[in-house]
Amino acid sequence: MAGYTPMIQQYLAIKEQAKDAFLFFRLGDFYEMFFDDAVNASRELEITLTGREGGATDKIPMCGVPYHSAENYIARLVEKGYKVAVCEQVEDPSAAKGVVRREIVRTITPGTVMESKSLSDKSNNFIVSVGSVSTAAIGMAACDLSTGELYVTSLAFNLDTLIDEINVYQPAEIVGDEPLLAQLREHAVWNRPVLLTAREPMAEDKLRGQFESAQLEGLNETRHRAVSLLTGYLEETQKRSLGHVRTIRSYEPNQYMILDHYTRRNLELTETVRDRSKKGSLLWLLDRTQTSMGARLLRRWIDKPLLNRAKIEERYEAVDALYRNLIARDDIRGELNQIYDLERLVGRVAFGSANGRDMNALKNSVRRAPQLVELARSAGSDRLRMLVDGLDDCADLAELIETVIVDEPPVSIREGGLVRAGYDDYLDQLREASTNGKRWLAELERQEREATGIKTIKIGFNKVFGYYLEVSKGALAMLPEGRYERKQTLANAERFVTPELKEKERLILEAEDKMVDLEYARFIELRDHLALQLHRLQRLAEVVAELDVYQSLATVSAERRFVRPFITDQYNLVIEDGRHPVVEAVMEGVPFISNATALREDEQSMLLITGPNMAGKSTYMRQVALICIMAQIGCFVPAKAAEIPMIDRIFTRIGAADDLIGGQSTFMVEMKDIQLMTEKATASSLVIIDELGRGTSTSEGMAIAQAVIEFVHHHIGCKALVSTHFHELSHLEATLPKLANACMAVQESGDHVTFLRKLIPGAASTSYGVYCARLAGLPNSIIDRAYMLLEDLEEVASEKQAAGSAVAPAATVSKVAETPAAPFYAAVNEPELVFKETAAAVQLSIFDEP
Ligand code: ADP
Repeated sequence: MAGYTPMIQQYLAIKEQAKDAFLFFRLGDFYEMFFDDAVNASRELEITLTGREGGATDKIPMCGVPYHSAENYIARLVEKGYKVAVCEQVEDPSAAKGVVRREIVRTITPGTVMESKSLSDKSNNFIVSVGSVSTAAIGMAACDLSTGELYVTSLAFNLDTLIDEINVYQPAEIVGDEPLLAQLREHAVWNRPVLLTAREPMAEDKLRGQFESAQLEGLNETRHRAVSLLTGYLEETQKRSLGHVRTIRSYEPNQYMILDHYTRRNLELTETVRDRSKKGSLLWLLDRTQTSMGARLLRRWIDKPLLNRAKIEERYEAVDALYRNLIARDDIRGELNQIYDLERLVGRVAFGSANGRDMNALKNSVRRAPQLVELARSAGSDRLRMLVDGLDDCADLAELIETVIVDEPPVSIREGGLVRAGYDDYLDQLREASTNGKRWLAELERQEREATGIKTIKIGFNKVFGYYLEVSKGALAMLPEGRYERKQTLANAERFVTPELKEKERLILEAEDKMVDLEYARFIELRDHLALQLHRLQRLAEVVAELDVYQSLATVSAERRFVRPFITDQYNLVIEDGRHPVVEAVMEGVPFISNATALREDEQSMLLITGPNMAGKSTYMRQVALICIMAQIGCFVPAKAAEIPMIDRIFTRIGAADDLIGGQSTFMVEMKDIQLMTEKATASSLVIIDELGRGTSTSEGMAIAQAVIEFVHHHIGCKALVSTHFHELSHLEATLPKLANACMAVQESGDHVTFLRKLIPGAASTSYGVYCARLAGLPNSIIDRAYMLLEDLEEVASEKQAAGSAVAPAATVSKVAETPAAPFYAAVNEPELVFKETAAAVQLSIFDEP
């Protein structure tokens, strides 16, 4: 450091404490960056890189941003996944001897931003910690600093399980024990950029200062460590009170349906696979929430479907009441609509960043509580009544804000104008002085006009020169000599001061200074007072959020004609006329064709679905999974009736766009997913595999597919929907009692194929691959040749079959006869397919091309 100026030495010493962050070093009205930080920031922020003499031979690279616009620059860096340490001058420069003392006052990181610009209203911004005290378990905690929520759990020591659990929170940042982080760095695939930082746990006494002992006592050692790691990091980066992070919500992972990362993505629960937007996801469909808190809670419900029947039924009960009671629903929506983001307002109060407008937002929101409580109480639901019973409506807090803060306060809390008249006597007196002064100024202006005869003379104010008299150039000659002291020259006017003006200015500004200080002090008092009551406001926010989610689910359910499912602890999954909620919602003009599902323990629990591309196989399979998820989050479902068992886990293997992440082949990814399924699935799981066995040679693919199906059938016994291109596998129906063939009905006429989107028993005759190739415009010569080859191959295959075992043909009439409850269509032996629509008494005959 030798050779550098004292200030640069100070900079370097502070930079030592923030090696992994951009250091925003306050110099007067700017935050400056030096050395590598400057080079990198100038690149990332596209700001000019300059140099500064720093005592050494070479100039030091430097760049800076004005302090008043720093928030934007910080937000940009944090969005890009960087940390920013903000270093302020912590003593008055005029009082400082030598270099002004400076300290890092806060570090802003992707997982700890509080600034509303960087946060999305409708989703949480979680930071996660991982830690372990033994090789038996991993503790994981997740906190949203902006709302104060803190969750913790412990998991078996298994990296996949950990990654799945972390992915529920989609954190921007993970901190914790380095060995775990190292494994995550190597193996995890995240949905978004994630910053990983190794940290030590918080000192025990500090942790006890943050949480009441009852909160900590409930935690086992593993969870304790996770909380400690997380809180330690928050304290270290935020360097201030975290009064809103007080409640630790400890949960068992097995309280919730397990959904791995791929399944969440494939089922498009909160975002679509294609462009990762919310639009088109289940969340998008179900989100009719009116408040940001409600929107975030709904997302969490979708992320964590329940496994407790009583809890699910409780939710149905509330949704049901609002479903039926349109008036209550509308009234509740109306009230909710007036409520701001209480959770984040509370967060800002605790954090010390709430301003006058936040206070009024808080007040106006809290004032809705009594009305909302009344509506909930009378909506006709026990759950809603219980929810609001004895709820503290925080009316006193709203009243307090009302007495202190004016109706329309400014953004800044340091420039006055926010405290209401009548709240503080001394403040009122100062105001009086200031107003009197202003009246006096008006009088002075009048006098000056009279004395000089200059009608346009006027008194003005600016921050540099204070009060002045302005005289236009044309009238200057009329100004008498003597009393007028020139201060500033403009293009067409001159500004003067007089001794009287100076004297009054002193009085006015003194009063104003005092006023501003006093207002600030009163405001801080109010904020501190509220900070002690945050738990009350948080409770209110929770209730509002839950109420909002109920009305949201009820609203969508009513509008989209969903029905209340019958939830059971039994095995059977029976859906009558099920629909895919999202596909149905986005389809315009064409009706969505409903399909039944019946997976029963003592009949068939597995379906092997064949049929051409585009026939609707994957839509059907996803719809079954979505209906189960909707049922288990407490929502009604798109069906005529549904009996839904408690599904402990859903596995999906559905071709997705991002299969090739990490350089793995599609086939390898599929095999890994299947491996996971064979290891983790239980009889209560639901397995969905689209196009099992693709990605390798036909015979290998078919062999693996058959082996997997047999394994699920014999060893897991769970409900499964499997689609495949290999029609040859349809013979499995004969040997596996719990497996049934099904296919998507297709109507052919001439050289046209129409997809009927109806799931029917039996196997499809052909996958119409060549037909699709023709639709895609391949030359006729190729198409004709392909049909010829296909015929040859099929002949060979049927000869083999005939020579081999006595396997059942693809779909038989007898199968149809065995299942009298089969919906509307029946498939008969190929090559001739006959569809009978019993309900509409329509007969369609479909023949292969002659
Ligand atoms: P597959 O998996 O058999 O290739 P998809 O399930 O992807 O076919 O369905 C293809 C398209 O058909 C879907 O994008 C959807 O628009 C439409 N579709 C699927 N199922 C239905 C249905 N039951 N009713 C109406 N349209 C449907």
